[in-house]
Amino acid sequence: MSYDEVYRRSIEDPTSFWGELAEELHWYRKWDKVLDDSNAPFYRWFVGGETNICYNAVDRHAFGSKRGQAAIIWESTEVGKTRTLTYFELYREVNKLAGVLKNLGVRKGDRVLIYMPMVPEAIIGMLACVRLGAIHSVVFGGFSVSSLASRIDDAEPVAVLTADAGSRKGNVVPLKEMVDASLDAATTDSVRDVLVLNRGLGSCPMKRGRDLDWTEQLAQRGELHVEPTRLQSTDPSYILYTSGTTGKPKGVVRDTGGYMVALHASMSQIYDVSEGDVYWSTSDIGWVVGHSYIVYGPLLKGLPTVVYEGTPDYPDPGIWWRIIEKYGVTCVFTAPTALRALKKFPDSWIKDRDLSSLRHFFTAGEPLDEPSYQWGKEVLGTPPIDHYWQTESGWSMLANSVGLEMLPIKPGSPTKPAVGHRLEVVDPDGNSLEKGQKGFLIERGPLAPGMLLTLWNDDKRYLKDYWGQFQDKQLYLTGDYAIEDKDGYFWMLGRADEVLNVSGHRLGTREIEEVVSSHPGVAEVGVVGVKDELRGEGVLIIAVLKNHIAPADEDRVAEEMRQLVRDRIGPIASPKGIHFVSSLPKTRSGKIMRRVIRAVYQGDNIGDLSTIEDDATVDMVREAADMLKGQF
Ligand code: AMP
Repeated sequence: MSYDEVYRRSIEDPTSFWGELAEELHWYRKWDKVLDDSNAPFYRWFVGGETNICYNAVDRHAFGSKRGQAAIIWESTEVGKTRTLTYFELYREVNKLAGVLKNLGVRKGDRVLIYMPMVPEAIIGMLACVRLGAIHSVVFGGFSVSSLASRIDDAEPVAVLTADAGSRKGNVVPLKEMVDASLDAATTDSVRDVLVLNRGLGSCPMKRGRDLDWTEQLAQRGELHVEPTRLQSTDPSYILYTSGTTGKPKGVVRDTGGYMVALHASMSQIYDVSEGDVYWSTSDIGWVVGHSYIVYGPLLKGLPTVVYEGTPDYPDPGIWWRIIEKYGVTCVFTAPTALRALKKFPDSWIKDRDLSSLRHFFTAGEPLDEPSYQWGKEVLGTPPIDHYWQTESGWSMLANSVGLEMLPIKPGSPTKPAVGHRLEVVDPDGNSLEKGQKGFLIERGPLAPGMLLTLWNDDKRYLKDYWGQFQDKQLYLTGDYAIEDKDGYFWMLGRADEVLNVSGHRLGTREIEEVVSSHPGVAEVGVVGVKDELRGEGVLIIAVLKNHIAPADEDRVAEEMRQLVRDRIGPIASPKGIHFVSSLPKTRSGKIMRRVIRAVYQGDNIGDLSTIEDDATVDMVREAADMLKGQF
């Protein structure tokens, strides 16, 4: 069947389409209804069905033909170690840890925060949670104290899983210290236990009565088999935070059954992988791509998943290609920013390696720019395939679904909607636009399975942020601008809201502004995303300093601001530039003129001044531009 035929069926008859795909997995109890849309836009999939993702991702294979086959292939260039776990070994390890958590009193519905480096234990931790029906909240190990504290306060976990430290390019990242500081900073006292994997990398202060040693606990409280909890398909499996337009991160809540079925199906329909394939997503378990395609997707499919602790260019820029050669990786999923970083080095790093195993190379997170696409196509022997999705969706919204049919590639476009996604481009009133016109990318309900259930503890914000834009028309707002061309291909044109995309990851401007404004010398601050050759976008800060700061102290203050952002949010938010101005240019309603700032900073032609900011006169924009020109 062609892509068009399969896609059409998924839209016209979702019940039998998804029902058949769900039959490929194990259910303790079959669903009563494939889709319940009676309480839209809270869509529910496989209602009445009971299942467990851990059972499907681990036990199903450990007690089947995959028992002795690799499940996790871990490679760490940071600590110079590798480790392979077969499906049966993974089953054992997950059960031991599930026993520990169970015996510590972790129950179905409890939250467990995971703040760990890229080690197998992190994945074992995630799987142990879903085995028990506990809801994990993984926080990216590159986020620092205030990001962690706000997530702790929002999710109120009963336990935290962490390690003494991670490592980045040989530098120790003190995770345990960060957990301690975050628990001090958090207002909730929900956390009873902190389980610490001591890798012997960093300092590991242990607080009596709260902190527990991972290895000791496995020996004392671990169990050989913990019965998986029978979960409702509609029960939450995890919370994953992402940035929005306010300072408070949004806790995307994922279900169990819909996510499981969608991910499992995506492995063959989109990534075109099956028995014999070796899958490698270079992301981190702290991001949605890591959840879906380091952990759940490949394991549900029974494939080996490569788990890499390291960066693309350390110890040298040949490391990725050696990993592909060493393990015979057949499918890679990465971000364009990594391609941009790697293409700066001589091609010999790649050409000296045998990459003949590689069949597919996918990218997501930001647009795949044409030069990177062309370079990848030339050196990899297979064209990079762009696909588009977001934390909320959990899997592809737009893709070249090569497992169904490889459609002609148009470089720069993530191609067409993935099955089940009703995507469209609309105007500010929610009316469908002609092909070729720019507008908001929306999804019509029912949302495809796997997409968010709601926001943690905040149904209101779910309704407002995603469904509140077009008043009476119920349309899910992706937050992105797009164009659909005459062939039905979509072209992504960037965020329509005040959210940045740094190296394929979302950061909220408000979040960064709040951190910077806590500096005692700062009177006012604005954060803007500006083009960055390597990272897609970079963080530009412009600030007004308080009167008491002398010009001679500006460099010191800038450095302190930079450090504050790194410490509180994490190195990913490190500013590309910091500039001080006498006043922030604002629109009539008091909004910072981000587009003017961006345009002036980038040296863009401001062009038609009247449309550049929604709520400012031409004169105001011109004045702002003139004021800024001397500043950068
Ligand atoms: P996140 O939720 O952090 O994964 O970020 C999702 C956002 O990244 C999307 O809403 C888009 O703005 C952007 N994005 C992801 N994939 C692509 C892509 N292939 N092309 C363009 N933008 C993308």
